[in-house]
Amino acid sequence: MIKVGVLGARGRLGSVICEAVETAPDTDLVARIGSGDRIEELVEAGAQAVVDVTRPEAVMGNLEFCLRHGIHAVVGTTGFDEERLATLRGWLEQAPGTGVLIAPNFSIGAILMMRFAAAAAPFYESVEIVEMHHPDKVDAPSGTARRTAELVAEARRAAGAGPVPDATSTGLEGARGAEVDGIRVHGLRIRGAVAHQEVVLGGVGETLTVRHDSLDRVSFTPGVLAGLRAVVDRPGLTVGLEHVLDLP
Ligand code: NAP
Repeated sequence: MIKVGVLGARGRLGSVICEAVETAPDTDLVARIGSGDRIEELVEAGAQAVVDVTRPEAVMGNLEFCLRHGIHAVVGTTGFDEERLATLRGWLEQAPGTGVLIAPNFSIGAILMMRFAAAAAPFYESVEIVEMHHPDKVDAPSGTARRTAELVAEARRAAGAGPVPDATSTGLEGARGAEVDGIRVHGLRIRGAVAHQEVVLGGVGETLTVRHDSLDRVSFTPGVLAGLRAVVDRPGLTVGLEHVLDLP
C-alpha cells in the first residue's frame, strides 16, 4: 500500500483524485490538504507520496516541504519552466532516494494521441492541429497542442521533411491559427466541451485524423495512479507521464 496525501484536495481535479486514491487497491489516502490547511499533516499521517494539483504559485513551496521530508511527488499543477525544473533538480540532489514526476498531462489517451501523431508525421506533407476546450480556459493554444506541435515538428525534421505547404498570401489575421515550431494550431472555445484535439495529416489522395476527447476529469485518474506506483521507485526528476507508462 502506498500512503498518499493529496494537495489541492478540494479542487476540481483534486477531489476526483482523492476518490481514485481511496478506491484503488494499492493506495491509501492518508491526508487531504487544501489551501489554509497545515502541510505538516502529511508527515503526521505518514504520507509516502503526494499528488499536487494546486496552483502554480503554491506548488514550489509544497514540493520544497515534501522533498525536505523525503516524500515522493506526482505533480499535475501547471507552470513548470526550465528555471523551476532546475530548482527541483537542486532540491532532489539534497534528497537522495526521493522522486518527483512532473506530469503536464495525466491523460493516457492524450499521450497516445501525441505519440501516434508524431509516428504518422513523417509520412504526410500536411499537418495541422485543432484543439477545443471549454470557454473558461485562460491559455491558448493548450499545453497539449503546443507539445503535439513540437513533437510533430521534431519528427518531420528528423525525416528531412520541408515546410508544410500553404499558399495563403492574403487573409484575415488569425484565420490560419497560431504557428508553433512551423505547425499551425487552431483553438476553439466551446461551452460544453471539456478537452479535445485533432491532428489532421494529409498526403496525396488521403487524410488521416488522430483525435482524442477527454469527456470527464475521471479520465486523468489512471495516469495519476500509474504515476504514484512509479514515482516511489524512481528517484530524481522525471518529466512526462510517458516515461512511466509501458509504451511500445
Ligand atoms: P482548482 O479547482 O482551482 O483546484 C486547485 C485547488 O488547490 C483549490 O482547491 C485550492 O484551494 C487549492 N490550493 C491552492 N493553494 C494550495 C496550497 N498551498 N496547498 C493546498 N491546496 C492549495 O483547479 P483544478 O482545475 O483542480 O486544477 C489544479 C491544477 O491542475 C491546475 O494547475 C491545472 O492547470 C492542473 N491540471 C492538470 C492536469 C493534468 O493532466 N496534468 C489536468 C487538469 C488540470 P482554494 O480554492 O481554497 O485556494
